[in-house]
Amino acid sequence: MNKPVDLKTVPSVPLWIDGKQKPASSARAGDITNPATGQITKRVPFCNAADIDAAVQAASRAFPGWRDTPPLRRARILMRFREMLDANKDVLARLITAEHGKTLADAAGSVQRGVEVVEFAMGIPHLVKGEYSEEVGTGVDCHSVRQPLGVCAGITPFNFPVMVPLWMFPVALACGNTFVLKPSEKVPSASMLMADLLKQAGLPDGVFNVVHGDKDAVDALLSHPGVKAISFVGSTPIAKYIYETAAKNGKRVQALGGAKNHAVVLPDADFEFAADALIGAAYGSAGERCMAISAVVAVGEEADPLIAKLKDKASKLKIGAGDSKVDGKEMDMGPLVTRVHRDKVAGYVDKGVAEGAKLVLDGRTFKGAGDGFFLGASLFDNVTPDMTIYKDEIFGPVLIVLRVKTLDDAINMINANQYANGTAVFTRSGGAARKFEREIEVGMVGVNVPIPVPIAFYSFGGWRNSLFGDQHVHGMEGVRFYTRGKVVTTRWPDANALPQGFNMPTLG
Ligand code: NAD
Repeated sequence: MNKPVDLKTVPSVPLWIDGKQKPASSARAGDITNPATGQITKRVPFCNAADIDAAVQAASRAFPGWRDTPPLRRARILMRFREMLDANKDVLARLITAEHGKTLADAAGSVQRGVEVVEFAMGIPHLVKGEYSEEVGTGVDCHSVRQPLGVCAGITPFNFPVMVPLWMFPVALACGNTFVLKPSEKVPSASMLMADLLKQAGLPDGVFNVVHGDKDAVDALLSHPGVKAISFVGSTPIAKYIYETAAKNGKRVQALGGAKNHAVVLPDADFEFAADALIGAAYGSAGERCMAISAVVAVGEEADPLIAKLKDKASKLKIGAGDSKVDGKEMDMGPLVTRVHRDKVAGYVDKGVAEGAKLVLDGRTFKGAGDGFFLGASLFDNVTPDMTIYKDEIFGPVLIVLRVKTLDDAINMINANQYANGTAVFTRSGGAARKFEREIEVGMVGVNVPIPVPIAFYSFGGWRNSLFGDQHVHGMEGVRFYTRGKVVTTRWPDANALPQGFNMPTLG
């Protein structure tokens, strides 16, 4: 057991408002734990409405100046920020591992995916170009522009402390908005470092702000009249709540939710290749990825060799602290984020057994060293769609296998699931892959690619209960989300101008 910690001596994470660290006025706070040791390492304030108001006010004051900064100058600040992120990649990865638990290599990979969104946003002068039509009527021209919204807020989950915030604020800032970020209260430190790096890159004070907390802080953002748009990533029930509340309060909103990502393995697939891909996609980051493969749909009568390969590979995973090594090699999987979450995931394994699925590999037996929140890899076979372990998002190292007869059965099952974030098909048949790609009703699709996270210049987002709202994040949908369109029709009085009238203008 860890020794009890004197909370008065544990450092508290400050807020970042108007280009400076600030203490919160709220007395409520939570613990941050190192998942590998179970030790409390920091405290995080839970902001009240006054703290949120201070951040929104700072962002509102900064907006006119930032809006009027030419896009190329905004892009140059993002270019410097990109260099600083790159230079601090290892520090950021260590902060992620210390609070989330994932391995350092995995953490560094997620930082890199976030950096790519900054690289996309650096192209903003081109991305916000409007359209122009000459002589739409006699002596009349027409052009469109996209303008920023004002103060935008981002509310992010625990599983990607750097990448998910970077899905949002680089694009929002590039478009000329100012931003208030509320990172997950479990992993707030990386956001503080990014705020500092933005300042060093030359971002004016108040353009980017960080607040912390739980429902109170989020509700204050959702109801603040100064906030014009909300980007949210997290679990489905909260995403739905955020969407409904923000929309009711007149805000633009995109709310990305949970997932149950299926990988369909056809009988003609290379099982060795597929099993390798599925192991990383299912158990990487201890299954705490919104694009993790959590359900394998084995098509046909010959799936036993695939399950044997999955079992063999999963049972050999190296599990330990995310920053530790054995024989010079990093772990494959770290601990889960909190004790509560570890116990919840273990409870799903209990439930799968109770509901009659075949437990091929039992991760509950893995205890790890010390008080860390470890769980081994679990694998279930013969799962059916009525079981809780199929219906719920587990968000842990539990892979389930469902067996179906045909590709059509697999497609119908996936299309009936409440979640529709990502999916993949493993096959050697171009025809089967094409049918899957066309008929599957899921936002992101991989063909022999297990985690089809789109590159930054495309947009990321799911369908059905995996996304509430109209626009996905980053790529052109991100630019559209963080701007609003205006169309200007122009006529200059000169010899050609037509007389003004009372009838509906036709311009012709
Ligand atoms: P969560 O929904 O518990 O929390 C997300 C954010 O919402 C946090 O900032 C949290 O402080 C806030 N929050 C929590 N409860 C709230 C409440 N009652 N009212 C208002 N705000 C509240 O999610 P999490 O556990 O941090 O993250 C895991 C979830 O995120 C999984 O469901 C995962 O699938 C999902 N996720 C989805 C994507 C995606 O792109 N679709 C990406 C990453 C994670």
